Amino acid sequence: MKIICIGRNYVAHAQELNNEIPEEPVFFLKPDSALLRNNDPFYIPEWTNEVHHEIELVLRVCRLGKNIETRFAHRYYDEIGIGVDFTARDVQNELKNKGLPWEKAKAFDRAAAISSTFLPVSIFPVPESIKFKLNINGKTVQKGNSGLMIFGFDEIISHVSKYMTLKIGDLIYTGTPAGVGPVKIGDRLEGYLEDKKLLDFLVK
Ligand code: ZN
Repeated sequence: MKIICIGRNYVAHAQELNNEIPEEPVFFLKPDSALLRNNDPFYIPEWTNEVHHEIELVLRVCRLGKNIETRFAHRYYDEIGIGVDFTARDVQNELKNKGLPWEKAKAFDRAAAISSTFLPVSIFPVPESIKFKLNINGKTVQKGNSGLMIFGFDEIISHVSKYMTLKIGDLIYTGTPAGVGPVKIGDRLEGYLEDKKLLDFLVK
């Protein structure tokens, strides 16, 4: 399986990092070795001084497909979970300044926290108005609503599948809202999808 991540998909987040608003989805990959499951602790790597949290809605692909048209895209995902796209921001900024790929900053071991539980898309009456949030040590630091995405789920599926075949079990991190910031040792991260807490783990 592969992990596809969408960047700069919320206006307020693109602005907080001084990035331009993209005209088409920006995406990058993480390997399966980046997954952090079962609420295992996240260990800050020793080669970075600034790991940021990015809470995101995550789609699970349920059907093989390529060149998927937007109007059929909803058939290709049936479950939504929540994840944290951990980002070594200091390393990413260095790479961006040099025009180099972001993998070191994004694809490292355990950089993709994922909820064990996924919820069926069908339980959300309006699929494009799903609320989610991240609490750190009991305080809400990021709040998102899928209705504020620049590119919705179906557009993301359609765009990515132009370039690569989607396979059953692939995960798509759909972008983070504003409020990203550093995590530190001892932090407790809790991720909510609507009112359900699906992530609860420690930073070590
Ligand atoms: Zn992200």
